[in-house]
Amino acid sequence: MNFVDIHSHLADPRFDSEQDSCRSELVQEALQAGITFLVQGGLGPEDWLRQEALAKKFPTIIPVFGLHPYWVKEHSDDECEQALNQLAKAQLRIPAVGEMGLDLRKEYKDCESRQIEVFERQLELASFANKPVVLHIVRAHEESLRILQFWGLPKAGGFVHSFNGSIKKANDFILLGLKISVGGSLCHEHSKVLQEAVAHISLENLLLESDSPDQAPASLTGRLNRPICILEVAAKIAELKGLKPREVLDRTSQNARKLLAL
Ligand SMILES: [Zn+2]
Repeated sequence: MNFVDIHSHLADPRFDSEQDSCRSELVQEALQAGITFLVQGGLGPEDWLRQEALAKKFPTIIPVFGLHPYWVKEHSDDECEQALNQLAKAQLRIPAVGEMGLDLRKEYKDCESRQIEVFERQLELASFANKPVVLHIVRAHEESLRILQFWGLPKAGGFVHSFNGSIKKANDFILLGLKISVGGSLCHEHSKVLQEAVAHISLENLLLESDSPDQAPASLTGRLNRPICILEVAAKIAELKGLKPREVLDRTSQNARKLLAL
């Protein structure tokens, strides 16, 4: 089996307020379903430490470090510079670099130039280390394409996490050599554009993610999301493509293991 949840945040402090056993429950539940790799997304240095502590406890948790646009907004140019230096040293220990990217929603737009600078520096860093990148792109499709075309992707490729757009946008990324990762929002009834896109994206370019604790599918509305929700996402993809859920899980997990050399 060896299924892969390619993106989640199990170090998120929201899990701390749950019962002590909550994280071990999630990991155990995933393992029982055959999900043997729980790949994380990095926010900033404090989160990287939490991820590493968790990975010591739960070997199926795979740490990934990067500077998320949210973190970049909350920190100064100097702090970003320091964190980039830390990342340059730490990336030997991780299979991918990210999250990185651009978030141009109203509340993040005021730090656009710092976001761009930190995104470009991380692309450069990942290329140098030949690691795949984990991209967070929200309301910034054209701007991100320009940056990716100019700087180029690392040879190791990468993926757009929590993709939620049209087939045209998906194809722009796939042409650059990126894979498309989808999560629980695919299962919402109103996600017609995304469902239409996923129906047309070939299985070799798709990955599954939970993005826990966020992006809960309808079945978990109002609760913290859990890695096991990728089974529901796989079932939805299977329905859209006329395949068996098991085939979707097998093929997307193969894609993930190859991309991250797991
Ligand atoms: Zn994330």
